[in-house]
Amino acid sequence: MVPDDDLIMQHIRSYYAASANPAPLRGPLRSDVTADVCVVGGGIAGCSTALHLAERGYRVVLLEGKRIAWGASGRSGGQAIFGFAAGQDKLVAQVGFDTARRMFDVSVAALDLLKERVARHAIDCDLHWGQLHAAIKPRHETELQAWREELAADYGYTSLRWLERAELRHLLATDRYSGGLYDSRSGHLHPLNYTLGLAVAAEAAGATIHEGSQVTRIEQGDTAVVHTAEGRVRARHVALCCNAYIDELAPRLRARIMPVGTYIVATEPLGRARIEALMRENIAVTDVNWVLDYFRRSADHRLLFGGRVSYSGLDPLNTERATRARMIKVFPQLADVKIEYSWGGYVDITMSRAPDFGRIAPNVYYLQGFSGHGIALTGMAGQLVAEAIAGQAERFDLFGKLEHRDFPGGRALRTPALVLAMLWFRLKDLL
Ligand SMILES: Cc1cc2nc3c(=O)[nH]c(=O)nc-3n(C[C@H](O)[C@H](O)[C@H](O)COP(=O)(O)OP(=O)(O)OC[C@H]3O[C@@H](n4cnc5c(N)ncnc54)[C@H](O)[C@@H]3O)c2cc1C
Repeated sequence: MVPDDDLIMQHIRSYYAASANPAPLRGPLRSDVTADVCVVGGGIAGCSTALHLAERGYRVVLLEGKRIAWGASGRSGGQAIFGFAAGQDKLVAQVGFDTARRMFDVSVAALDLLKERVARHAIDCDLHWGQLHAAIKPRHETELQAWREELAADYGYTSLRWLERAELRHLLATDRYSGGLYDSRSGHLHPLNYTLGLAVAAEAAGATIHEGSQVTRIEQGDTAVVHTAEGRVRARHVALCCNAYIDELAPRLRARIMPVGTYIVATEPLGRARIEALMRENIAVTDVNWVLDYFRRSADHRLLFGGRVSYSGLDPLNTERATRARMIKVFPQLADVKIEYSWGGYVDITMSRAPDFGRIAPNVYYLQGFSGHGIALTGMAGQLVAEAIAGQAERFDLFGKLEHRDFPGGRALRTPALVLAMLWFRLKDLL
């Protein structure tokens, strides 16, 4: 179970919710229906799966327990970045270079897919290109430069450019960073509006979406039966896209992910001149600490700043203050500025931080373990499930080669164990 969900989430004052495009209220499932595919979960992964399948002519029913984009997709930092949270080295160690390279290519194609979809479906989600990985310490500079060389030489990824301190200082009015890797191919968007746009596109392609339809049980078989409180979907295939909320629906999957809370604040509107003085270009920035800070501009000239994480799920009430303090460390110029919104959400991390895609039965697919790196990849993952259901499982099955371990200590102990592990990583950030 996601820890202290109510405690953390009841304090949501989300900028995204306040700036959401109008969305229809979709009624719950209240009957027995049949479909080719039942998708569970209405985040980017679920909406993307539904969209791809509906475009291929499948009859699709998507069941969302709350509202479309209620989970991470409607709360995210919104940075669309190539690659995986795990880093390529871990993938290579597990599956060898060739497979890891093909996985990397999937992550890059995910960016192209996002761009193409936003254009094709005219999704109004404030998409901008340009993203920066910023170095705080000399060792970060060395690591980032080596990473750039490796990505260009081994993976053919050549859109990264190293910025020295002076050039970076020209882009960002802060002394916190000593250099950075700028990527013209990654970017950022309003994640809630992007997800709402995908849902509308899926419906336009023929998918049916029910909100307020928490799936309580799945009877497996050649035809699976997916149960909600008031209805059932009989479907030849099921796709589970539940992120950190999978819980009792698939205990085997739940054991392999840890819900980690992460938090964002939005300042009051700063006006164009002031935000442009802080960030000359409309790019997204993340530093490279283990517990990282990330920030970007909003369409109405706020700074959206995130980074505080909670592994224990215990501390939400201090989150706004703590995140603000991190923001002031980067931009002391904002000391007088009010925080107007603060919110949090859960990411679904795996032990290795590599994504966990596969099947729990021949016709029951799942996507999880994006480990905080899912804005672009979730969209592509939906396409991979659709390909697999249509009989072309090659790219989907690449990810089945990754081994995933349960979090040690089972349900009761995994949180304390992780809190200890994270304390160690936080100490490492200080070195
Ligand atoms: C604060 C925050 C910042 C982030 N920043 C970034 C970032 O900058 N860049 C990046 O790449 N990634 C980021 N991420 C991660 C990224 O947002 C996620 O990986 C991605 O949105 C996950 O999408 P999803 O569809 O898998 O899950 P979600 O969007 O969480 O959707 C899952 C949905 O499934 C529904 N559901 C679950 N169980 C059931 C059930 N039994 N029945 C019916 N419905 C169910 C839930 O209600 C939920 O709506 C961030 C995440 C958070 C929380």
